[in-house]
Amino acid sequence: FIITKNSQLNAKNMKRRSTEDNSSFAKKQKIAQQRKSLPIASVEKRILEEVKMNDTLIIVGETGSGKTTQLPQFLFNGGFCRDGRVIGITQPRRVAAVTVAKRVAEECDVELGQKVGYSVRFDDMTSSSTRIKYMTDGLLLREALLDPFLSRYSVIIVDEAHERTVHTDVLLGLLKNVQKARSISTCKESILEGRKKANNSAALKKEINAQCHILLKPCQGSKLSPLKLIIMSASLDARGFSEYFGGAKAVHIQGRQHPVDIFYTHHVEQDYIDAALITILQIHLEEGSGDMLVFLTGQDDIESLQRLIQERVRQLPEGSQKLLIVPIFSSLPSEIQMKVFKPAPHGFRKVILATNIAETSITIPGIKYVIDPGLVKTRSYDPCTRMESLKIVPTSKAQALQRSGRAGREGAGKCFRLYQESEFAKLADSATPEIKRLNLSNVILQLKALGVDDITEFDLMEKLSMRAIEKSLEELILLGALTADKKLSNPVGHQMARFPLEPIYSKALIVASEFNCLEEMLITVAMLLVDSMFYAPREKWEEARDKWKCFSHVEGDHLTLVNVYRASAESLEKSRLAGSKEKTAETILRKWCKENFINYSSLRHARDIHSQIQGHVEQMGLRISSCGDDMLQFRRCLTASFFLKVALKQPDGSYRTFDSSQVVQIHPTSVFFRTKKPECVVFNELIRTERNYIRDITRIDPAWIPELAPQYCSTQS
Ligand code: ADP
Ligand code: MG
Repeated sequence: FIITKNSQLNAKNMKRRSTEDNSSFAKKQKIAQQRKSLPIASVEKRILEEVKMNDTLIIVGETGSGKTTQLPQFLFNGGFCRDGRVIGITQPRRVAAVTVAKRVAEECDVELGQKVGYSVRFDDMTSSSTRIKYMTDGLLLREALLDPFLSRYSVIIVDEAHERTVHTDVLLGLLKNVQKARSISTCKESILEGRKKANNSAALKKEINAQCHILLKPCQGSKLSPLKLIIMSASLDARGFSEYFGGAKAVHIQGRQHPVDIFYTHHVEQDYIDAALITILQIHLEEGSGDMLVFLTGQDDIESLQRLIQERVRQLPEGSQKLLIVPIFSSLPSEIQMKVFKPAPHGFRKVILATNIAETSITIPGIKYVIDPGLVKTRSYDPCTRMESLKIVPTSKAQALQRSGRAGREGAGKCFRLYQESEFAKLADSATPEIKRLNLSNVILQLKALGVDDITEFDLMEKLSMRAIEKSLEELILLGALTADKKLSNPVGHQMARFPLEPIYSKALIVASEFNCLEEMLITVAMLLVDSMFYAPREKWEEARDKWKCFSHVEGDHLTLVNVYRASAESLEKSRLAGSKEKTAETILRKWCKENFINYSSLRHARDIHSQIQGHVEQMGLRISSCGDDMLQFRRCLTASFFLKVALKQPDGSYRTFDSSQVVQIHPTSVFFRTKKPECVVFNELIRTERNYIRDITRIDPAWIPELAPQYCSTQS
């Protein structure tokens, strides 16, 4: 009897295993087939040869041709990871680094974090066995602080270079130096050998070191192999990159693009969310099968459109095909991000609501219809007023073309531009590189920490405005990161450079340890780094407002955010104590968020960030303590770090920024929007829409400013 039972069990197990084997075999086969059909597959040999022959290579290829996922695998198979060396691929966006790494791990049939991994700010999935490493461009810059020669890497691929993020631009300059230094350091030994005979090695050493900024210490005897550099771009204009790298060779990969019909609106659309909603429904009811991709400006837009669609879908006729809405944006938990690649179940049409992440960084299969409102959210900075702002602006022509191209990857497609045809001609050809429109403080601080003392002498693709540089230097001096003669200060400047944060946040954390409120400040910074913590469907607005009232703090939004964070942590703790073992932390947190109208993905992202910066703070030996109920300490600490972002109330109820005398209003999400307005506040962000709004605000006493930021007040008088 027993034997029979066992054998039955075994038979069952074997059956299960063999179906698993079959399905995983089928999956592997499908992946192999997909890989083989990519345009890049036919030129593998040629590309490998080019990389071997050229130290710097530029690869230009249509989006979706397989550059990001395939090239690192070609290089791995071509022997570029021998002796434990690593291939690094940088991406401007964290979502791309994470999703692509997951895909490549799957293609290689390995566990993520082993041979293939990723590392982005606040999330590291690599190990000592990682050989293909996807990361953000900002992260590689930070690695250079610890390892100036980037000695672990045999090849660095700077992907999506056409995006021209600040980090990409600085990285290109830095890599040029590292490449020079590594080719020098390899031949140095032999040259030194030769010169030793001529008894002139000191002069030679000096000569070599003078050539590159980053040779911090002459690394005699270091046997670093030369660094291979590959710049990848989706835009066809490789000339700029080639010139910058001394006439580097450019290789073009032929893509396959099917025709895409472009449609424009007849009139100006006042509300692009509403226009997008109508277009989605129209396509769904009138056009043939195929998924839709909608480009939106950010998490807020995506979530409100998602709710609107869900409301309207209920009214669709019975029996018609259903819509599956899939959002993708950067602060979404990564397992949810991956959903975007899954084919829609039978009977469903997939509608992807994406930020410009889906323009070139990631390619989602199955798209036939693209809806493009023609807008993008960008950060810009005005050095004169020292104000950074978030603005929604028209895309460039290049972006519009990239977006429409997404509809024609697998067959003929359609793109619906939600603006008039006459508007297209008015668009700029391409977007201004970030380095020309962002605050340079962070970049300057990082370069200083890397030993580049004078940014004007650093070789960048763009010439920077002297005014912007001066203003950023001034800001760094005011924050105490630099001394009056513009040297990295000790220890504050060095500590600030080590944080993966904007200087103002790093400053707040460092100061908080002196004000005994680092515990609160860690939470605050983590919460400020993510978007839209509060959210409610329109019909539940009243109920939500009552819930939020429980979190609101009389002193302002920073402490309100701290309350939200703590309340969520308490609910987790309570259910743990109550012994609800069967529930995972995720389910508990989700439930709590739903009950309290808090955005789960934002909160979860903030929790991740919190644990990461806490790690940095601990490593630095900063003292983490809480100010308890003494919120005065916390507000004084905010004043000591955010003094460049102070606003004073005007007789008419509006505010005027102290630093640049701009008229601003309190954002509707602030706890002060409806209550009595304080005389003086610090704020986190200025948003320009039809009016100037300040967001995340806390009440302070103006008398504290001369006491807590004397260096600033002396420059103001
Ligand atoms: P490129 O970098 O040239 O734009 P990629 O290497 O990113 O191209 O993409 C190559 C192919 O891999 C595309 O067809 C894309 O759809 C597919 N792909 C990428 N990531 C995934 C994923 N996570 N799941 C399924 N397919 C994917
Ligand atoms: Mg790519």
